[in-house]
Amino acid sequence: MKSHAKVVVIGGGVVGASVLYHLTKAGWKDVLLIERAELTSGSTWHAAGGMHTVNGDPNVAKLQQYTIELYQEIERISGQSCGVHITGGLMLAGTRERLDWLKMAKARGRYLGMDLEIISVDEAAKLFPLMDKTHFTGAMYDPIEGHVDPYGVTHAYAKSAQIGGAEIVRHTRVTDLKPRTDGSWDVITDHGNVHAEHVVNAAGLWAREVGRMVGIELPVLAMEHQYLITGDMPELKGQKEQLHAIDFEGEIYIRQERGGMLMGTYERAGVPWSEVTTPWDFGQDLLPNDLERIAPSLEVGFAHFPAVGAAGIKKVVNGPFTFAPDGNPLIGPIRGLKNFWVACGVMAGFSQGGGVGLALSHWMVDGDPGADIWGMDVARYGDWTTLAYTNAKVRENYSRRFSIRFPNEELPAARPLRTTPIYEKLEAAHAVFGDYCGLEHPLWFAPTAAEAHDQVSFRRSNSHPHVAAECKAVQNSVGLLEISNYGKFEIRGPGAAGWLSRVMANRVPAVGRVALTPMLNERGKLIGDFTMCRVAEDHFFLIGTYAAETYYVRWFERHMPATGVSVRPCAMQYVGLSVAGPNSRALLQTLVRDDLSMATFPFMSFRRMEIGMVPGYVGRVSFTGELGFEIWVTTEYQRALYDALVHAGREHGLKLFGGRALNAMRIEKSFGTWAREYRPIYGPFEAGLGRFIDLKKSEFIGRAAAAEEKESGGALRLVTFKVDATDADAIGDEPIWHDGKTVGWVTSGAFGHRVNHSLALGYVPAALAGADSGFEIEIIGERHEAHRLAGAAFDPSGALMRT
Ligand SMILES: Cc1cc2nc3c(=O)[nH]c(=O)nc-3n(C[C@H](O)[C@H](O)[C@H](O)COP(=O)(O)OP(=O)(O)OC[C@H]3O[C@@H](n4cnc5c(N)ncnc54)[C@H](O)[C@@H]3O)c2cc1C
Repeated sequence: MKSHAKVVVIGGGVVGASVLYHLTKAGWKDVLLIERAELTSGSTWHAAGGMHTVNGDPNVAKLQQYTIELYQEIERISGQSCGVHITGGLMLAGTRERLDWLKMAKARGRYLGMDLEIISVDEAAKLFPLMDKTHFTGAMYDPIEGHVDPYGVTHAYAKSAQIGGAEIVRHTRVTDLKPRTDGSWDVITDHGNVHAEHVVNAAGLWAREVGRMVGIELPVLAMEHQYLITGDMPELKGQKEQLHAIDFEGEIYIRQERGGMLMGTYERAGVPWSEVTTPWDFGQDLLPNDLERIAPSLEVGFAHFPAVGAAGIKKVVNGPFTFAPDGNPLIGPIRGLKNFWVACGVMAGFSQGGGVGLALSHWMVDGDPGADIWGMDVARYGDWTTLAYTNAKVRENYSRRFSIRFPNEELPAARPLRTTPIYEKLEAAHAVFGDYCGLEHPLWFAPTAAEAHDQVSFRRSNSHPHVAAECKAVQNSVGLLEISNYGKFEIRGPGAAGWLSRVMANRVPAVGRVALTPMLNERGKLIGDFTMCRVAEDHFFLIGTYAAETYYVRWFERHMPATGVSVRPCAMQYVGLSVAGPNSRALLQTLVRDDLSMATFPFMSFRRMEIGMVPGYVGRVSFTGELGFEIWVTTEYQRALYDALVHAGREHGLKLFGGRALNAMRIEKSFGTWAREYRPIYGPFEAGLGRFIDLKKSEFIGRAAAAEEKESGGALRLVTFKVDATDADAIGDEPIWHDGKTVGWVTSGAFGHRVNHSLALGYVPAALAGADSGFEIEIIGERHEAHRLAGAAFDPSGALMRT
């Protein structure tokens, strides 16, 4: 083994091999993969090898498409067969909701260029004669589904990488990792050490153990997974290879394996494997079968596919593989560790391995993943993902693998975990809570405890009239909203203003003022949006998306000077309440000595104040479009602040409101939000944020690209639509049609209660952004006329929030 390499990849499963290949493809040749045993000695060797393009996140779906197309390339380079069988696939629906879900998945696939088709049960049965039609209501057909040979794929990646210059060392275990001061690593193995500039943790089943070598606890857990293979079936003799099928209600996947069928299930009573540490002596081993555990699913499967039940079981495979809490991979650099990368938690290695390798190699070589991989970024998790939290969430995710997730459905596992001091008070006021980064936050308020729950649905649900009442209260009197679920950062030091001016695209505000600012990467794409408040000359308070806190800090650290600036993420040290509506000023004025009048505390002001007995920051900003104030206090004061506001609010018609009403109101105002309208695939001018880009500044990250985008106008445009919807509103990811063609996609949608209309925000080609007619938005399989609005649906001049 060589003593130095530019990169050491730890782990020779399908993911590590793909990363290695993609690094050589991106031009890094001095790369070394270290494997403890033989290649595939973790989850990879016993996988069922199934692959498909459909994924709930369109950006992950794109990388899945890429993976499937890649097999031809690595077969050609390596001469190693991947054993690719493209059979086509069926997703079978047994209920109306499932068929609705399939229609939505088909619609989403449309703008990704996927050729999906909704077919009848009769058509499905012609394609897949083993099914008993009586259990199904319809199906979706995907021509690009199939399976591969896990051994062949891994070796094809490995050989292609070796042809590209990579080295692979087998039977060598990495036992420790030691950082050097220059950011490089000493990789300690049981067969000598390697000095590496970069290390990639692709250790699959052992990713946690490798993470612990560098002091991190990665949120991954292995679950046992079983599939069975039947004896040869006369029904298959002389027939063309059967399609893949997923039977959602049966929670079964099924495909042909030689002369029989392979049937697997994600059972409700899933069992984790090696909950705390993974044994190093586990290799190409299987776990004992437990058919009893999957018996309920098998019973349903055998009823839905009777010939399979009659064929008899020839073999059962029970093997472990890892999941992150949301089931998506964990990839990227780790905050606080230089040159340490992860590519783990990949639960669908044969659909996703290629895309993971591609994105990670670009990230390492070019400094940017080259695609929108927010849904897979390891930085989407933070300190709350303890071992027990991950355990609860992974079990839940596994058990729900084939369940429908409704847009208004909040999942129960690991809750409540994080609560603010007013949690019980909000609960007593009949709040229905949502879970955001493990934090409970109110979504809406029911009139009674008995009504305080969501009836899950793709259509307008039981919360609709209550959210309407909340919006009306904000419009006509005053509403009180908990806003603790934002990320907050304190930036201090003599260099703080200069540094912010370089990292953020807008001008830094004067003391006592607020500026909204996008944050751009070098390519001029949106990687954040912040409310930047200046407390003092060398002291700023930044408010942004909490889910992206680690993502932001990782970026801040990368661009931090040696001295003069400190950044402190303080999301849970500061919690907040907001009052919004025409009576909000009068209400707050009863509690503060400062003059809140327009003249002395105008829109976009920010100041330390005492609110009753509570010290805090007060900002005059508005995400509802109404006159409004945000109040930030350290956690121990929140109860007192809440009591003071509620007490004073009695005189002013105060009503509590929640996140659903806020979402509807910000859409009425065409205000975008991170991960929906603002993502690293959009430029600021495309997103309508051009007025927050200060090109007069001589320098900031992304300036050149932003100037270019301003000049060219960009390719896309964020547009607001009034939608002629009936009983269901757009929620995001629906296709936008124009003159009979899919031209764009919705990023957010809701019913606007103040304007009494269904609304959607979405991207269309810039050339179409001025078109006045011809738009339609597809909601649950039906196209609805959509009217482009020239500005915000509610108070387009912004006069109300400035009063
Ligand atoms: C029963 C079953 C069925 C499945 N079916 C499918 C399917 O149909 N389709 C699909 O896409 N996926 C399927 N999967 C999941 C798939 O197997 C995984 O997504 C994939 O194998 C993950 O690959 P990996 O490279 O991340 O991890 P692993 O395969 O676990 O590889 C990690 C490698 O790292 C090595 N390693 C670990 N630590 C060290 C160290 N310290 N030093 C050196 N080497 C180390 C290990 O020896 C191992 O070879 C299935 C899994 C199971 C168990």
